[in-house]
Amino acid sequence: MALVTKGVYFIKGQDEMIPDSHVYVIGDPSSKDLSIIDVGLAGKGRYKINSLLKEGLDLLSIRRIILTHTHFDHIGCIGEIKKEIPHAEIWVHRAEGELLEKGDDRAVYGMDMFKEMCTMQYGIKRDAFRMKVDRMLEGGEVLEIGDMVWEVIPIPGHSMGGIALYSPSHEVLIPGDVIYADYAIGRFDLFGADGKILRESLNRLSSLKIDILLPGHNDIVKGLPDGYVRKVLKMWEPYLM
Ligand SMILES: [Zn+2]
Ligand SMILES: [Zn+2]
Repeated sequence: MALVTKGVYFIKGQDEMIPDSHVYVIGDPSSKDLSIIDVGLAGKGRYKINSLLKEGLDLLSIRRIILTHTHFDHIGCIGEIKKEIPHAEIWVHRAEGELLEKGDDRAVYGMDMFKEMCTMQYGIKRDAFRMKVDRMLEGGEVLEIGDMVWEVIPIPGHSMGGIALYSPSHEVLIPGDVIYADYAIGRFDLFGADGKILRESLNRLSSLKIDILLPGHNDIVKGLPDGYVRKVLKMWEPYLM
């Protein structure tokens, strides 16, 4: 775990055959109001909890888990995490949150073949991802949490209820799997995905001033070049329809 900037910590994903999403912790520790952004792959709960403890963060300070989206590599160990931090609320965009509450896991696995593979490989039980969502996000909220301000930006397209968290004062963007630091974007062929909508989401992000890009996988970047999102959008635009 590493401090990215004041009030933003990074726990690197521990990829296996299936990638494990990065986890970010946001909030000033002195506020005792921390949020975890995404949790990661099934089986990685212990690693993520240990990383928090090693940094000296108090698990009691972790008030909520905010999911950028509910794909298996981001939500897989949520049961393990909730066991250690039972008081943490779950916040997720309504479009995916309502599916979770119904026990509809199509947005978790994205496709049937992947569901079979994951449930076999990780011994996932039926209804493992049926859960109560404490706050259904709509997009557009301005969250005042952990002595910081984070905007919830709706960025569907990779998944139906994808969100980014953006700190205007720190110029930090946490976009889940919608855009990466190596000019790649998230896939748009899974359940609930849509290339045209992804294009609109990237366009929305392109107007933000971003210094630090913290995607769900691979490299993170400090000192992102100006116009980066626009450039990535230009590259991918021909495929996004
Ligand atoms: Zn994803
Ligand atoms: Zn992912």
